[in-house]
Amino acid sequence: MKKITPFNPALGVYCCPHVFANTSAIQLVIHDDDWQFLCGEPHEDEQCHLVGIGHLLERDASLQQLAALGNGCGAMRIHAQADWELFTITD
Ligand SMILES: [Zn+2]
Repeated sequence: MKKITPFNPALGVYCCPHVFANTSAIQLVIHDDDWQFLCGEPHEDEQCHLVGIGHLLERDASLQQLAALGNGCGAMRIHAQADWELFTITD
């Protein structure tokens, strides 16, 4: 099995206000040049926050599995304890 290079904890990533405030679990991750860590609910005109991914990894170590997610790919899960399902971003 290929070894995954872990995330650099200092990597700056975007997260939605709910993830930022830790009121929602991360259920949607997008790697589209930038990394976005989102709760998966629709957002309207809400400010994304830039954080170091180390803070999110402290909260949820399973995010480390997504370090191998290529650019143009995403991952989602139906609840915080579910397995990540990977997908390709199409626009
Ligand atoms: Zn949110």
